[in-house]
Amino acid sequence: MDSKKNILTTLGIAMSIIFLVMLVNITLNLRDFGFDSAKSKAQLVAENVRNGLTAHMVNGIMDNRDFYIDQTKRLSNIDDIWIIRAKSVEEQYGKGTERAHDEIDSRVLKSGDVIEDFNEEVFGHSTYRITIPYKAEITKEIDCLSCHNANEGDVLGVVTMVMTMDDIKSTSLKIIGMTSFISLVVILFIIWFTRRLIVPYLSIFESIKDVMKRANDGDYGARIEGVDSGEAKNVAHWINGHMDKLQGSLSLIEDKIDIFLTAHKAETVEDPILDVQNTVIRLADIYKFRKTIEHDERIDDVYKRFATVLEDKFKLEDFYFLEADTTNKRVEVVYVHKELSCNPIEKGCRADRTNTLVDSTQFKNLCDKICGNRFYLCIPYSVSNDMDFIISIQSNSKEENEKRRALLPFIQDYVDAAKPEIVSKKLMQILEKNANTDPLTGLSNRKYLETYIDSSIYNGIYKGKPCGILMVDIDYFKLINDNYGHDIGDIAIKTIANTLIDVVNKNDVVIRFGGEEFIVILNDCDEDRLQNTAEEIRIAFSQQKIQAGAETFSKTVSIGTSLFPNKDHSFWKYIKQSDIALYEAKHGGRNRVIRYREDMT
Ligand code: GH3
Ligand code: MG
Ligand code: MG
Repeated sequence: MDSKKNILTTLGIAMSIIFLVMLVNITLNLRDFGFDSAKSKAQLVAENVRNGLTAHMVNGIMDNRDFYIDQTKRLSNIDDIWIIRAKSVEEQYGKGTERAHDEIDSRVLKSGDVIEDFNEEVFGHSTYRITIPYKAEITKEIDCLSCHNANEGDVLGVVTMVMTMDDIKSTSLKIIGMTSFISLVVILFIIWFTRRLIVPYLSIFESIKDVMKRANDGDYGARIEGVDSGEAKNVAHWINGHMDKLQGSLSLIEDKIDIFLTAHKAETVEDPILDVQNTVIRLADIYKFRKTIEHDERIDDVYKRFATVLEDKFKLEDFYFLEADTTNKRVEVVYVHKELSCNPIEKGCRADRTNTLVDSTQFKNLCDKICGNRFYLCIPYSVSNDMDFIISIQSNSKEENEKRRALLPFIQDYVDAAKPEIVSKKLMQILEKNANTDPLTGLSNRKYLETYIDSSIYNGIYKGKPCGILMVDIDYFKLINDNYGHDIGDIAIKTIANTLIDVVNKNDVVIRFGGEEFIVILNDCDEDRLQNTAEEIRIAFSQQKIQAGAETFSKTVSIGTSLFPNKDHSFWKYIKQSDIALYEAKHGGRNRVIRYREDMT
């Protein structure tokens, strides 16, 4: 039921109850008034009859009493009057003309009390009866005992009077009818007036209720209509204006938000305000992420932070990142969160090659490079003209994989936010790498050694174990330049660089220290390994054939060695020792390995 009907119905019911209570009250009061007035009149007449009879007795005209009673009966509203003699009077004066007494007469004769009796019928004849005793008395004027054989106070007879109440009843009914009619008119007027007064307010209230309910359900298009007068019109105008502004702002935000978020369309909720709220939260999170990675120093830090987002926000546990160099067709694993499930470096990457999303649920064994029976999503994101960033997300079930696929638009927003930082930090990484790399051999250079050796020792890369230091120099190198030219000299430098890489272990470090001089740092090294590796290098290089046009030649190297105990930060002291040992090797005739000794200084 709407509020208008509700209020009018309640008002109608309340007024009806008031009307009924009033009616009952009037009816009961009129009834009481009718009874009281009938009673007093009947009592008066009854007393009068008794006194009249006494007068008849005193005057000795008792025989005429019937005439007197008949005359009295003619008074208005008197139905009947009769008198009854007591037994003692009958015995003294005979039965007389009085009728036989009824049960009430007998009771009054016996008790001497007045008895009243109402005979009330709603639609029939209503009467009031009063029966009063006629008692023997002695007063100044009358002495009943002078004629009656009785004692003072004895009941000599009774007078009964019956009055009709129809007149009173019909007057009451008229009053009730009139009152009801007036009351009904008043009630109808009040309802009509109330309706007229409050209907405009109730109408606008109903309309506001409807507009607000729809807004609460997410529909801001409803407006207050049909209110065109008074204050309600102003209220409708303000609310409609407010809703217009709200709706306009929401649709503007809706239109513009796509510039910032790919994921926006993926997660729209029914209520535009909640939608805007969610979007603002997402934008704030992405902004925070972008600001944070801006202050990260290296690209690895950016990848780690992005991994934290994937883990904390998107609840991913098993994933890794690849960088694909689209110019050189090289793929590199740059971050592994749990484990690497494929070998992209050697086998390549389907996502990189096809530049499309690889979803294991689309086709059985879609990517044959993924190890084991896994579900996976590999997404390539183009970061710059020559670099793609690939995320590989592993799942244990199809359902899990599908859930993660739904997250991709949200992940895309973070990748978009990270792109500028990935590009700039990648560039920095390349520049840094170039500055630390020798372009001829691709080995790290002296700058690299100077920059990183201390932090490598600090960070425990060498794990506190002794390192072997070899200083390697080609013998009579200048002659190559002189005899075959610089190009052939360069080939000789490349040859010794490759020999060094081939001989040493993967986690040993080879550095082009300058010209045709190299430093090799042997990890976890002892005297034997130091000596054997140095000898192996010397022999291997001496066996290399260097091509110079039509002819070939071989060269030798001299090597000075020392063993860095890796207990303090005196690395350069041991470089110096190797250098001294190298000098000794050169001095001793070249093509040899010399271990540094204390007496060499
Ligand atoms: P030693 O046996 O005493 O080492 O004699 P050496 O001739 O090798 O003498 P040294 O080590 O002093 O010679 C280094 C020469 O290497 C000097 C320089 O012209 C040449 N050189 C340095 N860098 C390069 C390079 O990148 N390419 C070529 N072709 N030559 C280089
Ligand atoms: Mg030399
Ligand atoms: Mg030299």
